[in-house]
Amino acid sequence: MTRVTAPSTPEPRSSILSIPGYTAGSPAPAGSYKLSSNENPYPPLPGVVDAAAAALETLNRYPDVTAAPLRQRLAERLGVPADEIATTTGSSGLLMALVLTYCGPGDEVVYAWRSFEAYPTIALRAGAIPVEVPNLPDGRHDLDAMAAAVTERTKVVLLCTPNNPTGPAITQAEFDAFIVRVPPHVVVVLDEAYLEFVRIADPIDGLAAYRTHPNVVVTRTFSKAYGLAAMRIGYAMASAAIADTLRKVFVPFGISTVAQAAAIASLDAEAELLARVDALVAERDRVTAAIAEAGWDIPDAQGNFVWLPVGADRVPALVAEADALGIVVRPLVDGVRVSIGEVEANDRLVKLAQSFSR
Ligand code: PMP
Repeated sequence: MTRVTAPSTPEPRSSILSIPGYTAGSPAPAGSYKLSSNENPYPPLPGVVDAAAAALETLNRYPDVTAAPLRQRLAERLGVPADEIATTTGSSGLLMALVLTYCGPGDEVVYAWRSFEAYPTIALRAGAIPVEVPNLPDGRHDLDAMAAAVTERTKVVLLCTPNNPTGPAITQAEFDAFIVRVPPHVVVVLDEAYLEFVRIADPIDGLAAYRTHPNVVVTRTFSKAYGLAAMRIGYAMASAAIADTLRKVFVPFGISTVAQAAAIASLDAEAELLARVDALVAERDRVTAAIAEAGWDIPDAQGNFVWLPVGADRVPALVAEADALGIVVRPLVDGVRVSIGEVEANDRLVKLAQSFSR
């Protein structure tokens, strides 16, 4: 009988050991504005707090396990069958379930870099190999190189549109040229967390994309435009077969009754939602114009944030200057991401761009 020396303490899988801890956007001290997590500066939409409070009455009961009433409302709103919608704890929960479902150890997950910070950790959780394809110099996905990076080990491709943190959105023409180069067994995820803020002429039509290509999954969230980040609600649209499989993988009862009620009430306030999104887009465009005026060359901002690609050596100085102006920004390795917030906060961002010597 062979004897194996057992470790003296529990050991995580090696891929888990390489996961860096999640870095959340820093909180704002008194007198400062938090522009570090791409949150919505507006409070919950009218009716949302009352609906959430009413749902507190039933906290002794489990929530609807598949969020059926919410899926039904989304189905009516979007014109898709409810069985093609899957809901869970934020689009983070969706992305994690997708990669766990379709990838095992040694499989590859292809995504653009730089993109959403969580993508590498999501791949590593599944024991999969992150394959990072550098963005084009203007911050767009290099879809040509991404298609070329797909190998027989690739199981999932993550496309982020608009891309967090660089900002550009993928066009329908770019997507059409890309998708025909990806084999039909590879899951292509369209992460549309910031979809509502996109104003380019020819954005990807996510609904048409998943209907036309059964390997496409669209993920969206109530955290950004809807201003429900603390409620943790994301939804995916995919073939009924994929949506059904995802529901088996999600943490059961992941979206609380309170969160489901808040999401439905937010859908009831569509007019106010659109007005707020328009106001944030107007602010974004005002800020990006002023930043360009100050001599910066920044990528096309299509989300509720702007990307200041100052290079690794200048990041600490930019963060310090932002702190001094009373805005908390998000430093990433080679640049700084700043969310669009309250008008006064945005004015401070413009000041930062004007005063910072690059
Ligand atoms: N995708 C992208 C591109 C994001 O930026 C974020 C949040 N920062 C998410 C997904 C996850 O959002 P949530 O889990 O709150 O839906």
